[in-house]
Amino acid sequence: MRYANKKYTIWGFGLSQNQADTVGGFAGSMYRLRTWDNEFPDFSHQDMEPPCLICFSLERARAFAALPRMETAHLEMIPKTLLLHEGYSLQEVEEALDLGCGVVLRPPFTAERLDPVLRRATETAALHKDILNMTREISLERELLENKNETLDFLVNFLTSTTEQLDEKEVLRTAYASLGKLFPVQSLNAVLTHENDEGSIDTELYIAAPKDHVQYLAWRSLLLEAASAQNPGKTLMPSSMSLQLPGLDKLAPSPADGHTFTLPLVAGTEKIGCVILLTNMNRNLNRDQGLALDSAMRHLGLTLKNVQRFQQMCHYADYDSLTGTHNRRNFEERLIDEVRRHSRYKLPLSLVMLDLDHFKKVNDTWGHIAGDRVLQSAARVIEKTIRGSDYCARYGGEEFVIILPHTDKESATLLAERLRTAMAAQQQEVGSARFSISCSLGVACLDEAGEGSPHALISDADAALYEAKAGGRNKVVCNTKGAENPMAHAAHG
Ligand code: GH3
Ligand code: MG
Ligand code: MG
Repeated sequence: MRYANKKYTIWGFGLSQNQADTVGGFAGSMYRLRTWDNEFPDFSHQDMEPPCLICFSLERARAFAALPRMETAHLEMIPKTLLLHEGYSLQEVEEALDLGCGVVLRPPFTAERLDPVLRRATETAALHKDILNMTREISLERELLENKNETLDFLVNFLTSTTEQLDEKEVLRTAYASLGKLFPVQSLNAVLTHENDEGSIDTELYIAAPKDHVQYLAWRSLLLEAASAQNPGKTLMPSSMSLQLPGLDKLAPSPADGHTFTLPLVAGTEKIGCVILLTNMNRNLNRDQGLALDSAMRHLGLTLKNVQRFQQMCHYADYDSLTGTHNRRNFEERLIDEVRRHSRYKLPLSLVMLDLDHFKKVNDTWGHIAGDRVLQSAARVIEKTIRGSDYCARYGGEEFVIILPHTDKESATLLAERLRTAMAAQQQEVGSARFSISCSLGVACLDEAGEGSPHALISDADAALYEAKAGGRNKVVCNTKGAENPMAHAAHG
């Protein structure tokens, strides 16, 4: 290219050979002159970088002014000079000015006349360049600020939406929805881990695919691999149960459908699992996105830990810590619900109250720790004997209550009898000693038509239990009265 190293370009339209030679010759090595005779180039072409000066003949200046503004708007600020021919008229000078030519040069085209025109043109071009650079910088800054704003919006949304949830599955579902605001996420899968009493690692899997789906196993093995890498040297207990994340199963993408990246979940210094994200994004996250993802994951770890603590507290509030069955507080709530359901649907409802016989002797003979073991074993016997729809709670010391919904007097008595034999048959092992312990049971019922209150039902069962104790223990007594028993408040041993 002849003009490859020239710094500024001048365009000439409709110039005579003489005019072109003069301008080109004077302009010298600093400039490149491109000329067109009777046509205009495609101004939008990438090769058409705006020049520092445009020189016209009058006829081409007219034609240029007649072009659609859309095509020439970007050339508006470029200085334009009209080169007059020999024998020009004054009207032509005036017309040239009207056509937007700031400078009109008449022949002869001497150095004195051309020099200031070129100098001004290059100064204007330099100024243009500066303004353009500044504008570019400003828009770049604006873009950066906008990106920062979007990142902040994402973080606020992520923090609030995940913190609002009280269930791990919901936290992860919300995290998935929110992460989509930061970058495209096709799938979110997670494994939560915690060390059990034996020192091995229990796992809970959250997989975005239905269990019978082909992708399920692929995610499962990836998650277990990640959990294993996070807990080197520890035995992993792959959970048989995994929770399918709601709303994520429609497409159920496989790990091979994009890039996966594994992010550790930590709460303070405690490792609590990993998240594996799937994205179809081809580029890396930018710095701000990386930092935001990092913060989001740290928050997710803490939120999940808090949810686990909250669930633990709920468990403490409802369950008895020694036997693992429900506690009295939870029983009282449940009984109110069941009595209400009984009244509404007119279904029978029974309550069994069970008290271990001579339990004090166990404590006195083998000590309280042995007594505790017997209480735990008694709870297991009850749980094994009742149905899934029945409900057991520890009412107090060595007393348990069993709610039997949809169960009439006869069936409840049969079950109580089964409990009695099962308890008596259970071998208690304390150190080298083997013994068994019996129990006494009181049964109370509300039949289909019967009205009743939770309080009356407890009192009736209590009274029947008292009778069983008084009748020699290791017995079942069914309260046939159906109303509150005046003996209910009497203490039994
Ligand atoms: P009865 O056949 O008349 O029911 O006699 P009992 O000995 O079972 O009943 P009593 O009410 O005289 O004694 C109950 C004992 O249960 C007394 C108490 O120390 C013990 N106990 C209550 N709660 C616990 C517990 O959590 N652990 C242990 N080891 N003992 C408990
Ligand atoms: Mg007792
Ligand atoms: Mg008792």
